[in-house]
Amino acid sequence: MANIIDGNKISQVIRNEIKEETERFKIDTGIVPGLAVMLVGDDPASKIYVKRKENACKEVGFYSREYKLPAETDEKTVLSMIDELNRDPEIHGILVQLPLPGHIHSAHIIEAIDPAKDVDGFHPVNIGRLLTGRPCHMACTPKGIMELLDRSGIPIEGKEAVIVGRSNIVGKPLFLMLLARNATVTVCHTKTKDLAEVTRRADILVAAAGKAEMIRGEMVREGAVVIDVGINRLDDGRLVGDVAFSEASPRSSFITPVPGGVGPMTIAMLLRNTLDAARRSRKDP
Ligand code: NDP
Repeated sequence: MANIIDGNKISQVIRNEIKEETERFKIDTGIVPGLAVMLVGDDPASKIYVKRKENACKEVGFYSREYKLPAETDEKTVLSMIDELNRDPEIHGILVQLPLPGHIHSAHIIEAIDPAKDVDGFHPVNIGRLLTGRPCHMACTPKGIMELLDRSGIPIEGKEAVIVGRSNIVGKPLFLMLLARNATVTVCHTKTKDLAEVTRRADILVAAAGKAEMIRGEMVREGAVVIDVGINRLDDGRLVGDVAFSEASPRSSFITPVPGGVGPMTIAMLLRNTLDAARRSRKDP
Protein backbone atom coordinates (compact mmCIF):
# COMPACT_ATOMS: atom_id res chain seq x y z
CA MET A 1 0.00 0.00 0.00
CA ALA A 2 1.26 3.45 -0.91
CA ASN A 3 2.52 6.14 1.40
CA ILE A 4 0.13 9.06 1.23
CA ILE A 5 1.88 12.37 0.56
CA ASP A 6 0.11 14.80 2.87
CA GLY A 7 0.09 18.15 1.06
CA ASN A 8 -1.80 19.86 3.88
CA LYS A 9 0.87 18.93 6.39
CA ILE A 10 3.85 19.72 4.13
CA SER A 11 2.38 23.05 3.03
CA GLN A 12 1.76 24.03 6.66
CA VAL A 13 5.40 23.32 7.51
CA ILE A 14 6.44 25.56 4.59
CA ARG A 15 4.05 28.31 5.64
CA ASN A 16 5.50 28.21 9.16
CA GLU A 17 9.01 28.46 7.70
CA ILE A 18 7.96 31.44 5.56
CA LYS A 19 6.36 33.12 8.58
CA GLU A 20 9.59 32.82 10.56
CA GLU A 21 11.73 33.99 7.62
CA THR A 22 9.39 36.93 7.08
CA GLU A 23 9.67 38.02 10.71
CA ARG A 24 13.47 37.93 10.44
CA PHE A 25 13.44 39.71 7.08
CA LYS A 26 11.26 42.50 8.48
CA ILE A 27 13.59 42.98 11.45
CA ASP A 28 16.71 42.95 9.26
CA THR A 29 15.44 45.21 6.48
CA GLY A 30 12.29 46.99 7.64
CA ILE A 31 10.62 45.70 4.48
CA VAL A 32 7.22 43.99 4.60
CA PRO A 33 6.73 41.64 1.63
CA GLY A 34 3.70 42.89 -0.33
CA LEU A 35 1.40 41.02 -2.68
CA ALA A 36 -1.24 42.61 -4.92
CA VAL A 37 -4.01 40.30 -6.10
CA MET A 38 -6.30 41.39 -8.89
CA LEU A 39 -9.64 39.76 -9.61
CA VAL A 40 -11.66 40.81 -12.66
CA GLY A 41 -15.29 39.64 -12.67
CA ASP A 42 -17.02 37.41 -10.16
CA ASP A 43 -16.19 33.83 -11.04
CA PRO A 44 -17.09 31.98 -7.79
CA ALA A 45 -14.06 29.65 -7.84
CA SER A 46 -11.70 32.58 -8.46
CA LYS A 47 -13.25 34.48 -5.54
CA ILE A 48 -12.51 31.54 -3.24
CA TYR A 49 -8.90 31.30 -4.49
CA VAL A 50 -8.34 35.04 -4.00
CA LYS A 51 -9.75 34.89 -0.47
CA ARG A 52 -7.45 31.97 0.37
CA LYS A 53 -4.44 33.86 -0.96
CA GLU A 54 -5.36 36.92 1.07
CA ASN A 55 -5.71 34.84 4.26
CA ALA A 56 -2.42 33.06 3.60
CA CYS A 57 -0.66 36.44 3.24
CA LYS A 58 -2.07 37.58 6.59
CA GLU A 59 -1.01 34.36 8.28
CA VAL A 60 2.66 34.78 7.33
CA GLY A 61 2.79 38.53 7.99
CA PHE A 62 2.75 39.89 4.42
CA TYR A 63 1.08 43.08 3.34
CA SER A 64 -1.65 42.26 0.84
CA ARG A 65 -3.76 44.44 -1.37
CA GLU A 66 -6.77 43.21 -3.23
CA TYR A 67 -8.33 44.73 -6.35
CA LYS A 68 -11.81 43.52 -7.23
CA LEU A 69 -12.83 44.87 -10.62
CA PRO A 70 -16.15 44.43 -12.42
CA ALA A 71 -16.27 41.92 -15.30
CA GLU A 72 -16.74 44.70 -17.87
CA THR A 73 -13.45 46.44 -16.94
CA ASP A 74 -11.50 47.01 -20.16
CA GLU A 75 -8.01 45.75 -20.87
CA LYS A 76 -6.51 49.23 -20.92
CA THR A 77 -7.65 49.88 -17.35
CA VAL A 78 -6.15 46.61 -16.11
CA LEU A 79 -2.89 47.37 -17.95
CA SER A 80 -2.61 50.84 -16.42
CA MET A 81 -3.20 49.41 -12.93
CA ILE A 82 -0.45 46.87 -13.51
CA ASP A 83 1.82 49.67 -14.67
CA GLU A 84 1.22 51.48 -11.36
CA LEU A 85 1.80 48.31 -9.32
CA ASN A 86 5.04 47.65 -11.23
CA ARG A 87 6.31 50.99 -9.89
CA ASP A 88 4.83 50.64 -6.38
CA PRO A 89 7.64 50.01 -3.85
CA GLU A 90 5.22 48.45 -1.31
CA ILE A 91 4.30 45.70 -3.79
CA HIS A 92 6.79 42.91 -4.53
CA GLY A 93 4.43 40.43 -6.14
CA ILE A 94 1.54 40.93 -8.57
CA LEU A 95 -0.99 38.22 -9.24
CA VAL A 96 -3.84 38.53 -11.71
CA GLN A 97 -6.33 35.74 -11.06
CA LEU A 98 -7.02 33.68 -14.18
CA PRO A 99 -9.23 33.07 -16.11
CA LEU A 100 -9.96 36.64 -17.19
CA PRO A 101 -13.19 37.69 -18.92
CA GLY A 102 -13.09 36.91 -22.68
CA HIS A 103 -12.46 40.50 -23.86
CA ILE A 104 -9.17 40.69 -21.92
CA HIS A 105 -6.17 38.88 -23.41
CA SER A 106 -4.41 37.08 -20.60
CA ALA A 107 -1.13 37.10 -22.59
CA HIS A 108 -1.21 40.94 -22.72
CA ILE A 109 -1.79 41.12 -18.98
CA ILE A 110 0.88 38.55 -18.06
CA GLU A 111 3.45 40.24 -20.29
CA ALA A 112 2.71 43.65 -18.74
CA ILE A 113 3.76 42.48 -15.26
CA ASP A 114 7.35 43.27 -14.30
CA PRO A 115 9.06 39.83 -14.43
CA ALA A 116 10.61 40.58 -11.02
CA LYS A 117 7.06 40.87 -9.58
CA ASP A 118 5.59 37.98 -11.59
CA VAL A 119 5.13 35.66 -8.61
CA ASP A 120 2.95 33.31 -10.67
CA GLY A 121 5.97 32.62 -12.90
CA PHE A 122 3.93 32.94 -16.10
CA HIS A 123 5.84 35.81 -17.78
CA PRO A 124 7.80 34.69 -20.87
CA VAL A 125 10.98 36.10 -19.29
CA ASN A 126 10.56 33.80 -16.28
CA ILE A 127 9.68 30.83 -18.52
CA GLY A 128 12.78 31.57 -20.62
CA ARG A 129 14.96 31.76 -17.51
CA LEU A 130 13.54 28.47 -16.29
CA LEU A 131 14.34 26.94 -19.69
CA THR A 132 17.93 28.14 -19.56
CA GLY A 133 18.48 27.29 -15.88
CA ARG A 134 18.72 30.86 -14.57
CA PRO A 135 17.19 32.18 -11.32
CA CYS A 136 13.54 33.06 -11.81
CA HIS A 137 10.05 32.91 -10.39
CA MET A 138 8.75 29.40 -11.12
CA ALA A 139 5.08 28.59 -11.63
CA CYS A 140 3.58 27.71 -8.25
CA THR A 141 1.84 24.38 -8.92
CA PRO A 142 4.81 22.59 -10.56
CA LYS A 143 7.16 24.17 -8.02
CA GLY A 144 4.89 22.77 -5.30
CA ILE A 145 5.12 19.31 -6.88
CA MET A 146 8.93 19.47 -6.77
CA GLU A 147 8.72 20.39 -3.07
CA LEU A 148 6.37 17.47 -2.37
CA LEU A 149 8.84 15.08 -4.02
CA ASP A 150 11.86 16.55 -2.22
CA ARG A 151 10.24 16.73 1.20
CA SER A 152 9.02 13.14 0.85
CA GLY A 153 12.59 12.03 0.14
CA ILE A 154 11.78 10.82 -3.37
CA PRO A 155 14.85 10.71 -5.64
CA ILE A 156 14.43 12.37 -9.05
CA GLU A 157 17.79 12.02 -10.78
CA GLY A 158 17.88 9.25 -13.39
CA LYS A 159 14.18 8.44 -12.91
CA GLU A 160 11.68 8.02 -15.70
CA ALA A 161 9.07 10.76 -15.24
CA VAL A 162 5.86 10.94 -17.26
CA ILE A 163 3.56 13.98 -17.21
CA VAL A 164 0.03 13.76 -18.61
CA GLY A 165 -0.87 17.30 -19.70
CA ARG A 166 1.15 20.03 -21.40
CA SER A 167 -0.44 23.28 -20.21
CA ASN A 168 1.69 26.40 -19.77
CA ILE A 169 0.90 26.50 -16.06
CA VAL A 170 1.52 22.87 -15.08
CA GLY A 171 2.79 20.35 -17.63
CA LYS A 172 5.37 22.39 -19.54
CA PRO A 173 7.07 24.12 -16.58
CA LEU A 174 7.09 20.85 -14.64
CA PHE A 175 8.81 19.20 -17.61
CA LEU A 176 11.60 21.81 -17.34
CA MET A 177 11.89 21.45 -13.55
CA LEU A 178 12.14 17.64 -13.66
CA LEU A 179 14.61 17.80 -16.56
CA ALA A 180 16.77 20.27 -14.62
CA ARG A 181 16.90 17.67 -11.85
CA ASN A 182 18.11 15.01 -14.30
CA ALA A 183 14.95 12.97 -14.72
CA THR A 184 14.18 11.52 -18.16
CA VAL A 185 10.88 13.20 -18.90
CA THR A 186 8.04 12.37 -21.30
CA VAL A 187 5.07 14.72 -21.73
CA CYS A 188 1.76 13.24 -22.92
CA HIS A 189 -1.32 14.99 -24.34
CA THR A 190 -4.54 14.22 -26.20
CA LYS A 191 -2.68 13.10 -29.33
CA THR A 192 -0.43 10.64 -27.48
CA LYS A 193 -0.88 7.16 -28.91
CA ASP A 194 -1.32 4.39 -26.35
CA LEU A 195 -1.18 6.56 -23.25
CA ALA A 196 -1.21 3.54 -20.91
CA GLU A 197 1.92 2.14 -22.56
CA VAL A 198 3.73 5.42 -21.78
CA THR A 199 2.40 5.93 -18.24
CA ARG A 200 3.38 2.36 -17.32
CA ARG A 201 7.03 3.31 -17.92
CA ALA A 202 6.91 5.99 -15.23
CA ASP A 203 8.83 5.88 -11.96
CA ILE A 204 7.19 9.26 -11.30
CA LEU A 205 3.77 9.74 -12.89
CA VAL A 206 2.13 13.17 -12.82
CA ALA A 207 -1.50 13.49 -13.92
CA ALA A 208 -2.45 17.05 -14.94
CA ALA A 209 -5.13 16.59 -17.59
CA GLY A 210 -8.27 17.76 -15.81
CA LYS A 211 -10.12 14.50 -16.58
CA ALA A 212 -11.76 12.79 -13.63
CA GLU A 213 -10.07 9.50 -12.67
CA MET A 214 -8.67 8.93 -16.19
CA ILE A 215 -5.51 7.26 -14.82
CA ARG A 216 -6.68 3.75 -14.01
CA GLY A 217 -4.82 1.24 -11.88
CA GLU A 218 -3.44 -0.72 -14.83
CA MET A 219 -1.79 2.48 -16.18
CA VAL A 220 0.45 2.70 -13.10
CA ARG A 221 3.71 0.82 -12.82
CA GLU A 222 4.20 -1.25 -9.67
CA GLY A 223 6.06 0.93 -7.14
CA ALA A 224 5.58 4.22 -9.00
CA VAL A 225 5.24 7.62 -7.35
CA VAL A 226 1.88 9.11 -8.41
CA ILE A 227 1.22 12.85 -8.27
CA ASP A 228 -2.35 13.90 -8.98
CA VAL A 229 -2.78 17.55 -9.97
CA GLY A 230 -6.35 17.25 -11.25
CA ILE A 231 -9.29 18.86 -9.49
CA ASN A 232 -12.60 17.63 -10.90
CA ARG A 233 -16.08 18.07 -9.50
CA LEU A 234 -18.36 15.12 -10.27
CA ASP A 235 -22.11 15.45 -10.86
CA ASP A 236 -22.74 14.02 -7.38
CA GLY A 237 -20.67 16.87 -5.89
CA ARG A 238 -17.60 14.79 -5.05
CA LEU A 239 -14.16 16.26 -5.71
CA VAL A 240 -11.79 13.81 -7.42
CA GLY A 241 -8.42 13.94 -9.11
CA ASP A 242 -7.25 12.68 -12.47
CA VAL A 243 -6.18 9.40 -10.86
CA ALA A 244 -8.54 6.60 -9.80
CA PHE A 245 -7.12 6.64 -6.28
CA SER A 246 -8.44 3.30 -5.01
CA GLU A 247 -7.02 1.48 -8.05
CA ALA A 248 -3.70 3.31 -8.22
CA SER A 249 -2.73 3.47 -4.55
CA PRO A 250 -2.18 -0.30 -4.00
CA ARG A 251 0.31 -0.27 -6.90
CA SER A 252 2.18 2.93 -6.00
CA SER A 253 4.96 3.59 -3.51
CA PHE A 254 3.77 7.16 -2.89
CA ILE A 255 0.58 8.92 -3.96
CA THR A 256 -1.03 12.33 -3.44
CA PRO A 257 -4.71 12.47 -2.48
CA VAL A 258 -7.28 14.90 -3.91
CA PRO A 259 -8.03 17.08 -2.06
CA GLY A 260 -5.08 17.59 0.27
CA GLY A 261 -2.19 16.75 -2.09
CA VAL A 262 -0.87 19.18 -4.68
CA GLY A 263 -3.59 21.81 -4.12
CA PRO A 264 -2.38 23.29 -0.79
CA MET A 265 1.18 23.54 -2.13
CA THR A 266 0.27 26.09 -4.79
CA ILE A 267 -0.48 28.88 -2.30
CA ALA A 268 2.56 27.98 -0.20
CA MET A 269 4.73 28.46 -3.31
CA LEU A 270 3.04 31.78 -4.06
CA LEU A 271 4.10 32.96 -0.60
CA ARG A 272 7.61 31.63 -1.21
CA ASN A 273 7.87 33.49 -4.54
CA THR A 274 6.60 36.72 -2.95
CA LEU A 275 9.15 36.57 -0.13
CA ASP A 276 11.89 35.85 -2.71
CA ALA A 277 10.70 38.84 -4.76
CA ALA A 278 10.91 41.09 -1.68
CA ARG A 279 14.43 39.81 -0.99
CA ARG A 280 15.56 40.36 -4.58
CA SER A 281 14.02 43.84 -4.67
CA ARG A 282 16.87 45.00 -2.42
CA LYS A 283 19.62 43.59 -4.61
CA ASP A 284 18.19 44.35 -8.01
CA PRO A 285 16.20 47.58 -7.90
P1 NDP B 1 -5.49 22.40 -19.28
O1 NDP B 1 -6.90 22.09 -19.65
O2 NDP B 1 -4.90 23.72 -19.63
O3 NDP B 1 -4.54 21.27 -19.93
C1 NDP B 1 -4.88 19.93 -19.86
C2 NDP B 1 -3.81 19.12 -20.57
O4 NDP B 1 -4.12 17.76 -20.43
C3 NDP B 1 -3.68 19.41 -22.06
O5 NDP B 1 -2.33 19.45 -22.43
C4 NDP B 1 -4.41 18.24 -22.70
O6 NDP B 1 -3.85 17.87 -23.95
C5 NDP B 1 -4.15 17.14 -21.70
N1 NDP B 1 -5.21 16.14 -21.72
C6 NDP B 1 -6.53 16.34 -21.51
N2 NDP B 1 -7.20 15.18 -21.64
C7 NDP B 1 -6.28 14.23 -21.92
C8 NDP B 1 -6.36 12.86 -22.18
N3 NDP B 1 -7.54 12.21 -22.16
N4 NDP B 1 -5.22 12.20 -22.45
C9 NDP B 1 -4.03 12.82 -22.47
N5 NDP B 1 -3.90 14.14 -22.23
C10 NDP B 1 -5.02 14.84 -21.97
O7 NDP B 1 -5.39 22.09 -17.74
P2 NDP B 1 -4.44 22.69 -16.55
O8 NDP B 1 -3.02 22.28 -16.76
O9 NDP B 1 -4.76 24.09 -16.31
O10 NDP B 1 -5.03 21.86 -15.33
C11 NDP B 1 -5.04 20.45 -15.30
C12 NDP B 1 -5.77 19.99 -14.06
O11 NDP B 1 -5.05 20.41 -12.92
C13 NDP B 1 -7.18 20.56 -13.89
O12 NDP B 1 -7.99 19.58 -13.26
C14 NDP B 1 -6.98 21.73 -12.97
O13 NDP B 1 -8.14 22.01 -12.21
C15 NDP B 1 -5.87 21.21 -12.09
N6 NDP B 1 -5.05 22.25 -11.50
C16 NDP B 1 -4.79 22.16 -10.19
C17 NDP B 1 -3.99 23.09 -9.57
C18 NDP B 1 -3.70 22.94 -8.12
O14 NDP B 1 -3.34 23.89 -7.47
N7 NDP B 1 -3.82 21.73 -7.58
C19 NDP B 1 -3.45 24.24 -10.28
C20 NDP B 1 -3.68 24.20 -11.70
C21 NDP B 1 -4.48 23.23 -12.27
P3 NDP B 1 -3.88 18.84 -25.28
O15 NDP B 1 -2.78 19.83 -25.05
O16 NDP B 1 -3.60 17.93 -26.40
O17 NDP B 1 -5.24 19.47 -25.29
